[in-house]
Amino acid sequence: MLKFLGVGGAFTKENGNTSAYYYVDSKSILLIDVGESIFNEVLNRNLLDNIENICILITHFHSDHIGSLGSLLFYCDYLNLSTKIVFPNVEIMKTIINLFGLDSSIFNIIQPKDVKEFKVRELRQVHDQMEAYGYLLKLDGKTVYYSGDTKIIPTEILEHLNAIDYVYQDVRDSDYPHHLSVSELEQLIPFQYRDKINCMHYPDNTNLNKIKKLGFKYVRKEEIK
Ligand SMILES: [Zn+2]
Ligand SMILES: [Zn+2]
Repeated sequence: MLKFLGVGGAFTKENGNTSAYYYVDSKSILLIDVGESIFNEVLNRNLLDNIENICILITHFHSDHIGSLGSLLFYCDYLNLSTKIVFPNVEIMKTIINLFGLDSSIFNIIQPKDVKEFKVRELRQVHDQMEAYGYLLKLDGKTVYYSGDTKIIPTEILEHLNAIDYVYQDVRDSDYPHHLSVSELEQLIPFQYRDKINCMHYPDNTNLNKIKKLGFKYVRKEEIK
């Protein structure tokens, strides 16, 4: 469903920072997170060719999620795109954009509930004391849950796995205080739902076979054509 510009965490060589995109229609793109490696991926793929509207959804402010947001926004302004930045705390997002040296008033900075093109709702995550969110989205009739970085899976998601088509979940190979481990994921997700779970944000040396053996999927960085 979603395509990935990177699938790794903060310290990654090949995998790049985790970030996903989706063409909402022929002129509109949704981009989730813009870590340090992501602006280059956008440029290398000519991702914004023929695009008029971009909606940038941000999960939290670690630099592997917003590290190249400033450059991307400069570029969106240069291309004259209609640019929405979506985050529940609008004021703090405006401050960040101003600190990037941009005038935040030229962008449309809104909360998830104010997105008109598709349905999106935030779910608060537990991630290193910081304000971090996952999102529940409705895209082309499919229900998609994107976790962002987190130590938990919200109860609401666990209780409604039957109604969700795609889950994109932050995982770590081993126990870690700010991310969910594969063994925690194994405990939380009944076997019949595991093929909906697409693991992401994994370090380069993660044992992907272990993830697969347990019945989960994992996302790969999209090849550049
Ligand atoms: Zn991260
Ligand atoms: Zn993080």
